[in-house]
Amino acid sequence: MAPAAALTPLPGARLDNALRRGRLSIFRPVTGPHSPRAGRGIGVRLGCRSATTMKSTARFLVGGNWKCNGDRESIVRLVADLNSGDVPSDVEVVCAPPFVYLDQVSKALMPPYQVAAQNCWVGKGGAFTGEVSAEMLSDCGVGWVILGHSERRALCGEDSQFVGKKVAYALEQGLRVIACIGETLEQRESGEMFNVLEEQMGAIAENVSDWGPVVIAYEPVWAIGTGVVATPDQAQEVHAYLRKWVTEKVGAGVADSLRILYGGSVNDANCVELAGQEDIDGFLVGGASLKGAAFVKICNAQSAATVGA
Ligand code: PEP
Repeated sequence: MAPAAALTPLPGARLDNALRRGRLSIFRPVTGPHSPRAGRGIGVRLGCRSATTMKSTARFLVGGNWKCNGDRESIVRLVADLNSGDVPSDVEVVCAPPFVYLDQVSKALMPPYQVAAQNCWVGKGGAFTGEVSAEMLSDCGVGWVILGHSERRALCGEDSQFVGKKVAYALEQGLRVIACIGETLEQRESGEMFNVLEEQMGAIAENVSDWGPVVIAYEPVWAIGTGVVATPDQAQEVHAYLRKWVTEKVGAGVADSLRILYGGSVNDANCVELAGQEDIDGFLVGGASLKGAAFVKICNAQSAATVGA
């Protein structure tokens, strides 16, 4: 799908009105040097939220993906730091420890923190050595699962169809799902980014009938664990594009309430500016989620962005 709406020029009067109403923002296209859109100078971006809401009314959500890190001792310390931090009541926070520590963390983390698994099997359990099923997660009181993380796509060979099936099965078992998508640097720079994102979104959307328990995490692969965060404009451009895609393919109601998280080198220094972007509804955080104080600060990014606005 061509991302035309993001760059469609508007006639003068309409443009002025839209800018005054805050429905548009001026930005510089920020795609790579080889992108077909590079070098066009200042562009115009159409806000994709409904006319009455600039930011979603859905709760800001921050996920902490602990990946394959920690041990019992370090987790005791991390949990204590998280429990002693102040998280605003209007923010939902979900921490995803490795499977073997889920029980320890579920018991020790206080509300409002919730827990997520970082993965689950694609169907019913059985003879699948090393796997953990969605039923098992539900049975243990784990309410969330992260699916389709780029590390699983790249390192464990999970393609979009497989991720889509996982999403369907996890939802059937009553789990809430953070489904990850994102392009590599090569795909971005070759102008393939939107095709890649559409293919990944399409495989998820085919498998979802009720979007209530679904959150999308846009995580550009080049930003994950690299310290190279997407600029607020880069992230907003893609989030607005994804929301427009959902509007067209699924419906405006779903698009307006769907939470689209940004993930990729988010930390306590860059989170506030990102949180201020219209279509960013939260974060999925890797490295910085292992540092209690920094993660709590990230959980407060939306309030800080609102105060600073
Ligand atoms: C992630 O793994 O989902 C992630 C975003 O990692 P990091 O924050 O370390 O880039």
